Amino acid sequence: MQEKKCACQDCNCQLGETAVMKDGKGYCCQGCAEHHAHGEPCASATGCECTKSAHG
Ligand SMILES: [Zn+2]
Ligand SMILES: [Zn+2]
Ligand SMILES: [Zn+2]
Repeated sequence: MQEKKCACQDCNCQLGETAVMKDGKGYCCQGCAEHHAHGEPCASATGCECTKSAHG
């Protein structure tokens, strides 16, 4: 069984019940789905730094 991981480049979050599907890829949250275009934080509170990476 394959684990579903967020398609955001630097995000290591698993897809949970808040997963967002976009362009055939799964993202863990709306922020990731929008590639943090507006600096939305990653919904995961586990210290994920994908927002920083995407914004820089
Ligand atoms: Zn993340
Ligand atoms: Zn994510
Ligand atoms: Zn992200």
